[in-house]
Amino acid sequence: MTNNINAPLMVPSEWHFNYHYSYGRVSRFFREVIENKRLYANRCNSCAFTWSPPRGGCPKCHGDLEWVALNGEGTIVSYTIVYVATSEFDHEAPYAVGYIKLDGCNTSMYQRIISDDLTKLKVGMRVKAVFKNNRQGTVNDFHFELAE
Ligand SMILES: [Zn+2]
Repeated sequence: MTNNINAPLMVPSEWHFNYHYSYGRVSRFFREVIENKRLYANRCNSCAFTWSPPRGGCPKCHGDLEWVALNGEGTIVSYTIVYVATSEFDHEAPYAVGYIKLDGCNTSMYQRIISDDLTKLKVGMRVKAVFKNNRQGTVNDFHFELAE
């Protein structure tokens, strides 16, 4: 309790709600993750720019996109070690997250990088996607680990 009668009053509250979120035109990306443990990108038919995570349309030229299967491997472009996380992930800290440029893509994907020794991580290292057994259609269905 504060001694300031004019301070903002804070009271505990819980919200519980369920909703269905649509991935719209990028739904295939998550279906492939769930059903086939495979990462996809989409490539613009006009400018050939290749996006992963995928987009609903080409942000560069508004051209149509086609789906392209990826090999699930890429290169660490940047990363950081998280020591203080949100309540959902705090028990997992410290952990690494970073931008991974997947083979065949022009963009980088922000994702968790799991390693036994976080001090070994370096920009430029090769990584591969590893999929959870119980996939739910979220970005938490997979992470990256150092490739052999
Ligand atoms: Zn384009």
